[in-house]
Amino acid sequence: MSTIQDQAREICLRTFGNRVYIRGLIEITSYCRNNCYYCGLRAANRRAQRYRLSREQILDCCRTGHELGFRTFVLQGGEDPGMTTEWVAETVMQIRGEFPDSAITLSLGEQSKAVYRMWREAGADRYLLRHETADEAHYRLLHPPELSFQNRREGLYALKELGYQIGAGFMVGSPGQTEKTLEKDLQFLEELQPHMIGIGPFVPHHDTPFANEPAGTAEQTLEWISGLRIAFPKALLPATTALGTIDPTGREKGILAGANVVMPNLSPREVRAKYELYDNKLSTGAEAAESLADLAARMQSIGREIVVDRGDHPEMRN
Ligand code: SAH
Ligand code: SF4
Repeated sequence: MSTIQDQAREICLRTFGNRVYIRGLIEITSYCRNNCYYCGLRAANRRAQRYRLSREQILDCCRTGHELGFRTFVLQGGEDPGMTTEWVAETVMQIRGEFPDSAITLSLGEQSKAVYRMWREAGADRYLLRHETADEAHYRLLHPPELSFQNRREGLYALKELGYQIGAGFMVGSPGQTEKTLEKDLQFLEELQPHMIGIGPFVPHHDTPFANEPAGTAEQTLEWISGLRIAFPKALLPATTALGTIDPTGREKGILAGANVVMPNLSPREVRAKYELYDNKLSTGAEAAESLADLAARMQSIGREIVVDRGDHPEMRN
């Protein structure tokens, strides 16, 4: 009898072959105006180390990444009040101009539809905005009152309407998560049909209200990766950094459970430790873009091959 892992792996191989897509993650700012209870970058964390990359630093990361074989750049950061939306648009335009063969993904939190439109027109292709939980009460338990599931959901639909390939997702084992909230996550994902679904274990950060909450487990995360692969055969499912953080072979296990994307860190080395969403977050070893050979070897050891490709969703290839 085959397990759900076997089924998920089989579906993944049938849809994507042995190809694993890579995305270069550039963490462009650690400033954030929000106060999500789970995150080390929350505004109220006075001990967080803040930095903001210059445009030239971001372009340099892209140059290094392109050289290494990355054809997707993910610009992620907090909702930084000191980084104007026009500045981001100009940065996207410059990346678009210099790397016409590469996809540009943004993950810069909740913005107005007008801003999402401006960034799309500047050349952004994709947007990652995890829904975090589709249960309103659970959403309120994870966030302060100014943040709502309704706004998150509207944002995701707006992004989709604007023609972005979108990524939703959630943390596995977040405080207050239950079978019931997870059931709602699944329903919401079925309704939204995002191109990517990013899930990883919740990992506590010592300077947050959830410092003493237990971390999510690798086992539950892997079960969810397999379940999502079966429910969404064509989705892009990353084996996340958080999974690699709680289990030294988490990335490989994630791929074997049905994931098909990894997102190595392309940020300048000197800022990596400062982008501390949770404790002990990996940024070296196979997690680091400059160690792509190590990652490739790990993938090869499980029969997978890293490809130089934008890695679009199967229905969004042109
Ligand atoms: N500010 C943006 C992008 C940065 S946070 C945003 O919030 O969308 C990116 C993701 O990191 C979040 O969606 C959240 O799911 C994840 N994250 C934050 N804190 C975490 C923690 N303690 N454990 C695991 N994942 C976390
Ligand atoms: Fe800011 Fe994102 Fe962290 Fe929330 S999860 S505090 S929006 S960086």
